[in-house]
Amino acid sequence: MELIFLGTGSNNPSPHRGASSLALRVSGTSNIYLFDCGEGTQIQIQRSSLRASRITKIFLTHLHGDHLFGLPGFLCTLSSSVLPSTVMIYGPLGLREFIETTLRLSHSWLSFKYEIVELIPNSYDGVDENLIKATLDKQTKDERCRTVTISEDGRYHLASDEDNCSVYAVSIKHRVPTYGYIIVENDLPGKFDIQKLQQSGIKPGPFCSRLKAGETVTLDDGRVLSPLDYVGPSRSGRRLVILGDCCDASNVIPFAQNCDVLVHECTHDNTLQEKAIEFGHSTPSMATSIAEKCKAKCLLLNHFSQRYRPKSLEDKENVVKKPKKEGNDKKEEGEENDDDDDDVTVDLLLEQAKQSTSKPVFVADDFFTYTIPTAK
Ligand SMILES: [Zn+2]
Ligand SMILES: [Zn+2]
Repeated sequence: MELIFLGTGSNNPSPHRGASSLALRVSGTSNIYLFDCGEGTQIQIQRSSLRASRITKIFLTHLHGDHLFGLPGFLCTLSSSVLPSTVMIYGPLGLREFIETTLRLSHSWLSFKYEIVELIPNSYDGVDENLIKATLDKQTKDERCRTVTISEDGRYHLASDEDNCSVYAVSIKHRVPTYGYIIVENDLPGKFDIQKLQQSGIKPGPFCSRLKAGETVTLDDGRVLSPLDYVGPSRSGRRLVILGDCCDASNVIPFAQNCDVLVHECTHDNTLQEKAIEFGHSTPSMATSIAEKCKAKCLLLNHFSQRYRPKSLEDKENVVKKPKKEGNDKKEEGEENDDDDDDVTVDLLLEQAKQSTSKPVFVADDFFTYTIPTAK
């Protein structure tokens, strides 16, 4: 399993950072899951080693533009490819209307099979029930679209035992309904002890794969081999937690215990915590606090204000510096125009995070790739 960060900037894409998007290569298959699709994501995919046609599931954490504006264009581009299976698109209620409206107004259509699954807001999301009802009442019947409500266990159950994984969503606190996605890999088979087999005087052969699969095998000479003697106990599958924008992700803590990876946003540094919370965002110390409570094995930070330059730029010559402009650009999320301090890099965020955790922690630049190790 491998995470590839396609866009790690908040609010808008810049010459140095794409808007939010993250890909997961799913183990044991060539399928790819995409989390968020900010403006320019399709270009980032083309610049990466990923094949867009292998994306089988798209998860939107919330409907802010910096996570969503790349979706219609990307879907239209996908239409020129032959896709091996139905593309599943998951996200908050309103996603269907966004997709249908942008496609209709731009006279676009999708040639591939897709299904839209909308998460109906729950009481934590703070959406007026009349608004939810009005949105649902407007929807016409379409077999490609369905909704899912929160289960009694506090999670949305989105995929079960697909690609050897199950996927859940949990509400987190931002300024609009926002979700964290939890990917739980099925348990892995135990390790095959080939040395023990050889010590028993048995030459490995094609029967080994049956033994590994848990089958009792009878050899030509009549010896009976039990998998219990040669295959170790099954190992826990990996658990990944990928959060959308948030200023409080404590809802995921019960479901994220001992997760292998926690991807947490980190829009501002610790000195700007008040501002971060005001806009529903987090700082390094807020992210590490959640990571500690989840007992996460590794913390990956993303969604940085454009104020913090990527570390990789420091080593590059001829970096294009943004010319100063008069006035403020319009912002999607009500943030200040804060990208004019060229001297601050994400190192500041990393240093602050390391002050409050001893866990492995990384700040992700675009195309940063993290391989999640399997249990030993
Ligand atoms: Zn955002
Ligand atoms: Zn947002």
